[in-house]
Amino acid sequence: MGNGDNSGGTPQTLGRCSECGSVYPVQTTASGELRPIGTDGGCECGNDDFEPVSE
Ligand SMILES: [Zn+2]
Repeated sequence: MGNGDNSGGTPQTLGRCSECGSVYPVQTTASGELRPIGTDGGCECGNDDFEPVSE
Protein backbone atom coordinates (compact mmCIF):
# COMPACT_ATOMS: atom_id res chain seq x y z
CA MET A 1 0.00 0.00 0.00
CA GLY A 2 1.30 3.45 -0.87
CA ASN A 3 0.52 6.74 0.70
CA GLY A 4 -2.63 7.15 -1.33
CA ASP A 5 -1.37 10.28 -3.02
CA ASN A 6 -3.16 9.33 -6.21
CA SER A 7 -6.58 8.76 -4.68
CA GLY A 8 -7.17 12.26 -3.37
CA GLY A 9 -9.66 13.23 -0.74
CA THR A 10 -9.62 12.66 2.98
CA PRO A 11 -8.35 9.34 4.31
CA GLN A 12 -11.32 7.26 5.28
CA THR A 13 -11.61 4.01 7.14
CA LEU A 14 -14.35 1.73 8.35
CA GLY A 15 -15.54 1.49 11.92
CA ARG A 16 -17.81 -1.04 13.55
CA CYS A 17 -20.30 -0.17 16.27
CA SER A 18 -19.24 -1.91 19.48
CA GLU A 19 -22.88 -2.45 20.40
CA CYS A 20 -24.75 -3.66 17.34
CA GLY A 21 -21.90 -4.32 14.92
CA SER A 22 -23.06 -1.97 12.19
CA VAL A 23 -20.20 -0.77 9.99
CA TYR A 24 -19.86 2.84 8.89
CA PRO A 25 -17.30 4.83 6.98
CA VAL A 26 -15.60 6.82 9.71
CA GLN A 27 -13.19 9.66 10.22
CA THR A 28 -10.72 9.82 13.07
CA THR A 29 -11.26 12.84 15.28
CA ALA A 30 -8.47 14.97 16.74
CA SER A 31 -8.87 13.04 19.99
CA GLY A 32 -8.41 9.76 18.19
CA GLU A 33 -12.02 8.61 18.32
CA LEU A 34 -13.88 7.18 15.36
CA ARG A 35 -16.78 9.25 14.13
CA PRO A 36 -19.14 7.87 11.52
CA ILE A 37 -19.62 10.00 8.43
CA GLY A 38 -23.15 10.97 7.50
CA THR A 39 -24.65 10.62 10.95
CA ASP A 40 -24.98 12.81 14.04
CA GLY A 41 -21.80 11.19 15.33
CA GLY A 42 -23.20 7.93 16.58
CA CYS A 43 -24.70 4.69 15.41
CA GLU A 44 -28.38 4.39 14.63
CA CYS A 45 -28.63 2.23 17.75
CA GLY A 46 -27.54 5.19 19.85
CA ASN A 47 -24.06 3.98 20.64
CA ASP A 48 -21.14 6.23 19.83
CA ASP A 49 -18.29 3.84 20.46
CA PHE A 50 -16.69 2.42 17.33
CA GLU A 51 -13.79 0.13 16.74
CA PRO A 52 -11.66 0.06 13.60
CA VAL A 53 -12.39 -2.53 10.94
CA SER A 54 -9.59 -3.92 8.83
CA GLU A 55 -10.52 -5.51 5.54
ZN1 LIG B 1 -24.89 0.39 16.79
